[in-house]
Amino acid sequence: MVKYTCFDCGATVEQEEIREIVRCPYCGGRILIKNPPKTGRHVKAV
Ligand SMILES: [Zn+2]
Repeated sequence: MVKYTCFDCGATVEQEEIREIVRCPYCGGRILIKNPPKTGRHVKAV
């Protein structure tokens, strides 16, 4: 699932919460930064 991070308040917004208008449901900010999907990915710690 694609998640977004609000540029204004830093809240994580799931794509389901965003409908037609891309807008932060918490602060109403319009700038949402798309996060890369982490599901199924294993991060190696060296
Ligand atoms: Zn926000």
